[in-house]
Amino acid sequence: MAQTRRAHAFGAKFITVMAICASPGLMALAAGGVGVVSWWVAGPIFGAALIAAILASFKLMASFRCGVCGSLLPPPKRWYAAHDNAPLVFKCKECDVTWDVGLRGSND
Ligand SMILES: [Zn+2]
Repeated sequence: MAQTRRAHAFGAKFITVMAICASPGLMALAAGGVGVVSWWVAGPIFGAALIAAILASFKLMASFRCGVCGSLLPPPKRWYAAHDNAPLVFKCKECDVTWDVGLRGSND
């Protein structure tokens, strides 16, 4: 029988990694916004941070392993476009387990 299990540590890790990657970009954006640094400096830093955040998110999403059998599970379909508070889940066909990582699509 299919069952849903929680793997919220993965969701927490994902959010932490995103925050670490995004913070230099947000700081650059703020610094550029108040004129502390030129946009020629802030712009590329923001761009680099954005790219780092995107690459890190894809890498993390492709690294989730089933907590039962240890199989590498494919990322949820169109997880990056998830919205309406849809839960992001990984499904292990072998174990018939759905892993709820505690992440939700945005409402934007
Ligand atoms: Zn499994």
